[in-house]
Amino acid sequence: GEALAVSARVAPLGSRLVLLLVEDLTEARRIEAVRRDFVANVSHELKTPVGALSLLSEAVMDASDDPEAVERFAGRMQIEATRLTNLVQELIDLSRVQNDDPLEDAEPVRVDELVAEAIDRCRHQAGTKQITMAAGGTADLHVWGNRGQLAAALGNLVENAVNYSPARTRVGIAARRVTAPGGDLIEVAVTDQGIGISEKDKERVFERFYRVDPARSRATGGTGLGLAIVKHVAASHGGEVTVWSAEGQGSTFTLRLPEAGAARDRAQQHPDLD
Ligand code: ADP
Repeated sequence: GEALAVSARVAPLGSRLVLLLVEDLTEARRIEAVRRDFVANVSHELKTPVGALSLLSEAVMDASDDPEAVERFAGRMQIEATRLTNLVQELIDLSRVQNDDPLEDAEPVRVDELVAEAIDRCRHQAGTKQITMAAGGTADLHVWGNRGQLAAALGNLVENAVNYSPARTRVGIAARRVTAPGGDLIEVAVTDQGIGISEKDKERVFERFYRVDPARSRATGGTGLGLAIVKHVAASHGGEVTVWSAEGQGSTFTLRLPEAGAARDRAQQHPDLD
């Protein structure tokens, strides 16, 4: 009788345990599938420029008595090589932001410096399209984090704003401090007058290798990893990135990050977090 009573008490626990195990397995399978997808995507992305380079080098050899053709093929080889370099660099960046704890060497970082760096990085591309870039509100603001990662994140947003906008438009970068219950946040909004993003694509653009228009992305040297990097950097800093967009009108990507003073205060209140 007692054994029965005990087993009756244990059985519900047992089934809950089984359920937990099943859930764990499902999660493990999901992670494994994401990993497999990623490897398949990387392989595919690497194959495209490598295949092109191989064909082009053959074309150069065949055209050795036609200097003009050789020059043309060599130019295209250079473009493919640049694409390959960009992809490898972004893969390295992505793996860094996924594996390193950015708060290990966190420091107060001036927002005006981050913005100036991001604008500098895109100056050439913006110039060729006569896109004007303007920043405001950045004075005296500091965010708390890893300078290199934050610069990469903001740089990616500004680069996209320029890449996905037609000529003679404007890219604006506006920063401000916003009060929040957990401590003040710094909001940096990058606004363009570009092609915009549809409702259905908005949720997906932060996924690794997701592009609305792969041909357009490739034409601008895009890898499809930029926004995945931005999302990771924001999250690991205790912040977030969101997007507002109207198709054909433009987009605003907003990065919210802990303010340097607020983050320091929090760390002092909870010294164990240091
Ligand atoms: P990519 O290297 O292709 O730019 P991202 O991860 O930076 O990769 O962006 C993913 C996709 O999101 C882009 O291919 C593009 O379709 C879309 N996108 C990103 N930023 C913008 C923007 N400012 N305006 C319109 N579309 C954008």
